[in-house]
Amino acid sequence: MSEASVCKKILLSGQAGFRVHYCESHRTIELELGAMSLRLDEDALMLMRDALDSSVTKLEALHATRGSFRAFMRQLNMPD
Ligand SMILES: [Zn+2]
Repeated sequence: MSEASVCKKILLSGQAGFRVHYCESHRTIELELGAMSLRLDEDALMLMRDALDSSVTKLEALHATRGSFRAFMRQLNMPD
């Protein structure tokens, strides 16, 4: 095994059930979510971050809209 093929991993995030490692040798990101793992290059991680950020923002806006709609309907004493 050549030296370049030996992984040199750094733990970037170690939350329970979701870990992120960076392999310095291969410049890859490894996501571990339960029993599933996913290996990405750095560009793909940035794409994933942007997509997740955007999704969370939209989901929060959706929940906020629904919440205010329900509050509005309760004020009118109408079922939503
Ligand atoms: Zn590696």
